[in-house]
Formats: sequence, C-alpha cells, structure tokens
Amino acid sequence: MALLNDKSAIITGASSGIGRAAAKVFAREGAKLVITGRRQEALDAVVAEIEAEGGQAVAVSGDVRDETLQISLVETALGRFGKLDIAFNNAGGLGEMGPVAGLSLDGWRETIETNLTASFLGAKHQSAAMGEGGGSLIFTSTFVGYTAGMPGMGAYAASKAGLIGLVQVLAAELASRKIRVNALLPGGTDTPAAITNAPDATEELLAFVNGLHALKRMAQPEEIANAALFLASDMSSFVTGTAMLADGGVSICRT
Ligand code: NAP
Repeated sequence: MALLNDKSAIITGASSGIGRAAAKVFAREGAKLVITGRRQEALDAVVAEIEAEGGQAVAVSGDVRDETLQISLVETALGRFGKLDIAFNNAGGLGEMGPVAGLSLDGWRETIETNLTASFLGAKHQSAAMGEGGGSLIFTSTFVGYTAGMPGMGAYAASKAGLIGLVQVLAAELASRKIRVNALLPGGTDTPAAITNAPDATEELLAFVNGLHALKRMAQPEEIANAALFLASDMSSFVTGTAMLADGGVSICRT
C-alpha cells in the first residue's frame, strides 16, 4: 500500500531541489499534488514527469510571499482533489549573506519574508482548510541557527529558527484537530541553492562542506524528500512539534 494513497498535498519550492524531489516521491506514493514556485516552465516539467509515471499534479506559479498565491494553492487543492491533507512548506533560500554588521535591512526583510512569513501565510490558510481527518504540515528549516552558528548566515539562521518556534505553537494549537506539525532540518544538500554549486565554488569548498558532515558527504535531494515523506505519512503518527534533523551528522560531527 502506498504511503500517501489518496492524500492531497501542497508542495512549495517544487520547481527545484528538495521540493522537486519531494513532489516526485510523494506522487509515487499516491499523493495528488498542487506544486508551486515562481518558474512556471520548471513546474510544468515536474508535472509532466509525474504524469508520465501515472501520478497527478497541478502547477500554480507565484511568489510564496503573496497571500493570494497561498489562498489559491489551497483553493486549487480543494477544487481539484476535494480536500487538503498535507502541506510541505519548503520554498526558501539563503538570501543576503555576510556578517550581520554589513547586512542590509532590505536583505534581512526579504529573507525573513521568504523563509518565515510565507510559511506563516501557508500555515494559516492550509490549516483552516484541513478537514476532520487531520493532516500534516511540514516546514523546511535547517541545522543552521539550531545546532550550529555559521558565519555570514544571520538572516537565514534567524528566519529558519523562527520556523521552529512557529511549528511548536502550531503543533499545540492544531493537535485537537489531529493535524501534526513538524520542522525538517536538512544538512547540506546537493541542490542548485547549495553554496557548493555557486558559480565561484571550488573543489576545496566542496571538500570542506562534505567534511563537516559525519557521513563525509552532502545529501541528495531524494534523501531529504524521503524524510519529508516520513513526516507526511502515517508512519510518523505520533510525531508532532519536532525539529527533525536529517543532516548526515553535521550537527554532532567534530572531526
Ligand atoms: P533550490 O533548489 O534553490 O529550491 C528552492 C525552491 O524554492 C525553488 O523551487 C524556488 O522556486 C522556491 N522559491 C524560492 N523563493 C521563492 C519565492 N519567493 N516564491 C516561490 N518560490 C520560491 O533549493 P533547495 O536546496 O531545494 O531548498 C529548499 C529548501 O531547503 C529551502 O527552504 C532551503 O532553505 C532549505 N535547505 C536547503 C539546504 C541545502 O543545503 N540545499 C539545507 C538546509 C535547508 P523558483 O525559483 O521557481 O521560485
């Protein structure tokens, strides 16, 4: 039996990386998807790949900071699939990097809005739409700002740590409606957003980042998608309010 048979799910940031991998994994497990990101063409390609494997997905492009997009994602799930069971609020990015003393206020605000405020908007409308059968809300956070301070990532760390606070409150608020709420904290993951894939990245940087992890490598996006699948499915039926590390041991590694 597929783990998400007949479930309806929203996945944000599904045009690339972890969200794209999650869309394919969730669809293979039987979920019907509403996927989003800003790039319509990239989303269409993901839909085509899912449909080619016999799955169902609808793409709605837009900016996750826009409340009308968040409402439209929920309405699309309800309109097309009749219900909403799962939302993987995953869209985000590093934002402006550099020492806090040099961060611009605009850069700070943009990062907080993309990584934190957008997730608040998602949770607000998604939780209101979830029915009596309960549901699962998942938010992509990070180990940065939770188990490690990484220089140059002040806005990113603050936005992602804020998600963990939001998750704890939502988990307490929504438990009586059988909605579980969790944060997923990946380690370094080999996606277009990773600093190891920046245009100026070097082999030395890749070796350094790999070496930070106990497993001495970064994750593939599918490995993080599988952790999201666990949180989305009934396999995690007693898991709520957690900050779940899937980080290859980057948080505990000292060698
Ligand atoms: P990615 O490949 O760059 O994917 C980021 C996704 O977020 C894209 O689909 C992008 O879509 C979407 N997105 C970003 N800003 C958006 C906005 N304002 N509105 C709508 N969509 C937006 O990066 P990734 O590594 O998979 O990142 C996914 C999540 O994992 C992020 O929250 C990131 O912070 C987190 N994370 C990543 C790592 C890592 O090492 N890669 C580690 C820990 C946590 P469009 O470009 O089409 O808008």
